[in-house]
Amino acid sequence: MKSGPADLRPSSNRYYPNKMGRALLIVLRETLLRDDYSELLSFARLSQYEQSLPEDNWVNAFDFVYIARLNQGLSEIYGPRGGRRLGIQAGRSFLTYGLSEFGTLAGISDLAKRSYSLQTKMRDGLTAVARLFTQSSDQYTWLEEYDMYLDYHVEQCPICWGRTADKPICFFTVGLIQEVLHRVSDGRDFRVRQLTCRAVGDNSCVYRIDKEPIK
Ligand SMILES: [Zn+2]
Repeated sequence: MKSGPADLRPSSNRYYPNKMGRALLIVLRETLLRDDYSELLSFARLSQYEQSLPEDNWVNAFDFVYIARLNQGLSEIYGPRGGRRLGIQAGRSFLTYGLSEFGTLAGISDLAKRSYSLQTKMRDGLTAVARLFTQSSDQYTWLEEYDMYLDYHVEQCPICWGRTADKPICFFTVGLIQEVLHRVSDGRDFRVRQLTCRAVGDNSCVYRIDKEPIK
């Protein structure tokens, strides 16, 4: 058993709705081996959720500290590379799960079939996700568009909440963005880089997305 996270402050006073915390735990449970999932919950001091998940409602009660500890736990249990890979995978699965569970994301599935330009689909898909977080949680998120790329901004990021690191660590959001783009583009993949991270001392977490797909 690994020792627990260094930062055990009880609350960030920032929250995801229960429904999102529930979704996060469900995708982690599906992504990890059963024993590893138990170890992750134990590391994150969240073993209470092993038997019963957060309620399926929009009450803002799933603390950002929980999310940061889950992210930290992935790297502790699987090492930095494994933690990165699983964080990205969990982000992708979270988006897939959210398409049916979070009503405001439902339109993303339809975008691929529309005759809009690829860039419009990318922008509309990411804007829908950003709006979901801003409107329903304490994570303020927005999109900024340039000629060659899009920047996805996250202020008050739960993934790295209270953490310090040498390099950006918010892999979950990278995976989430990748999956949105994959869906709206009929299966194409795009380069997504985390440019800045609160954990390395930046003001916010920013992700840069190339508008041209990877060949
Ligand atoms: Zn972050």
